[in-house]
Amino acid sequence: MTISFSHTFANELEGFYQSCSPEKCTSPRILQLNASLAEELGFDCRGLKDEQGAAVFSGNTLPDNANPIAQVYAGHQFGMFTPQLGDGRALLIGEVVDGKGERRDIQLKGSGRTPFSRGGDGKAALGPVLREYLVSEAMHRFGIATTRALAAVGTEDWVAREELKPRAVLTRVSASHIRVGSFEFFAARGEWDQVRRLADYAIDRHFPDVKDMKDVYLDFFKSVMRKQAKLIADWMSIGFVHGVMNTDNMTISGETIDYGPCAFMDRYVPSTVFSSIDDHGRYAYENQPKIGQWNLAQLAKALIPLYEEEQELVIQRFVDELDTFNDYYETFWLENMRAKLGFINKEEGDRDLINQLLKLMHECDADFTLTFRYLSKVRLGSELEFKGQFSNSINTSEWLSQWLQRVSRDEPSPERSALIMDAVNPIYIPRNHKIEEALDAAVNHNDLEPFRVMLAVVSEPYSERMSDDEFAKPPLTTSAPYVTFCGT
Ligand code: AMP
Ligand code: MG
Repeated sequence: MTISFSHTFANELEGFYQSCSPEKCTSPRILQLNASLAEELGFDCRGLKDEQGAAVFSGNTLPDNANPIAQVYAGHQFGMFTPQLGDGRALLIGEVVDGKGERRDIQLKGSGRTPFSRGGDGKAALGPVLREYLVSEAMHRFGIATTRALAAVGTEDWVAREELKPRAVLTRVSASHIRVGSFEFFAARGEWDQVRRLADYAIDRHFPDVKDMKDVYLDFFKSVMRKQAKLIADWMSIGFVHGVMNTDNMTISGETIDYGPCAFMDRYVPSTVFSSIDDHGRYAYENQPKIGQWNLAQLAKALIPLYEEEQELVIQRFVDELDTFNDYYETFWLENMRAKLGFINKEEGDRDLINQLLKLMHECDADFTLTFRYLSKVRLGSELEFKGQFSNSINTSEWLSQWLQRVSRDEPSPERSALIMDAVNPIYIPRNHKIEEALDAAVNHNDLEPFRVMLAVVSEPYSERMSDDEFAKPPLTTSAPYVTFCGT
């Protein structure tokens, strides 16, 4: 198969990676192929679904002009610096310029050991591969910046986890795989020329406008900060908990990356944590903006020494910039929340109204997704579904009457109002209990049908379908708390 790969990262950034071949696997077969993404990338889908595609997306047979590399990076993991991480279970095989002229990385995840694998096997298990496919695709459909899944390939091999699991390989597509941790790797070694080369490359690739700015690296920093503020505001307005916001899992492009321990909230509880290893709730839902800012401070630390001026002055400029993170975040968040409530214009009291609703939701165990979704039904005259989300709905009446006055000032037609809200408040999210059902069927019963059905459901998250009712419902309140695990 011919894919017109290019290799700007490999060609321009020698010393930032190691060349490495994928490990072969037994009898690969395509479990799921993302045809619309393949088309976006300009791939000819016909050849991809069969053995030839399986051979390519498992790493068994690389296309002629592939150039597999494992990128090096460092990272703050739960606040502690690890000077050397890197692609331990992934290989960038090349870049493709898509139909819109955007350069995208094509990476195999779970393709075997690399020089950065440390004690790991470099492989991925089927469950986490399908999980990443499902959740990243849902995020894309929500309009949230994310890496995407191009293909999931099953094999007849096994990987040793807490027990043996079927091995799989995921093909991941991203705007790039440059992370905050990529900068930290060279900064920690005092290799400032390398930091500068990486920054120049990232600017060229992601923020070309910055090149002409007077204060290039500060402007680069600002651009990354804005992207992250927007991304985290998007997560917050959909109830997404990333779960492992280490600096090696924060991209420069502003895409969500690393779907290991992430999950969506059912009931609105700001302190929600799913990850089994997040004992202190560092990456809890409500902490995400703060952690985003903390991670950006690590990027700032790597960039400041690029300036030859008096460091104190440069530090102050970066600190002043970092201080604006909250303003950006709040602005994006408010924009998202206004849209969720059906507001078109801005009014002084909007923030209070939003916060009052969130407070009621928290106090009364309301389901995050359905509360917002059912607001449109209230607008159309039915309060039942909305109020049904609250364990005690008495206090919601006063809030609803204020909201109804507010929303009708912007859009007098209830029907149009409801349409606007339904277009931003999904009815279907990848509910944890439904993900588990789908993965259990795939992994333990060799049955991919529930995964495929769920993928189809979350791929159209905004249009309500009676037949998909089971995917809209939260789990029973008696269910045990949901726990997620790192690693694939
Ligand atoms: P993550 O928790 O996915 O952000 O990964 C943290 C680090 O561990 C990265 O450097 C990964 O490449 C590495 N890693 C995770 N799982 C494996 C594995 N199965 N084999 C080798 N390295 C791994
Ligand atoms: Mg990672």
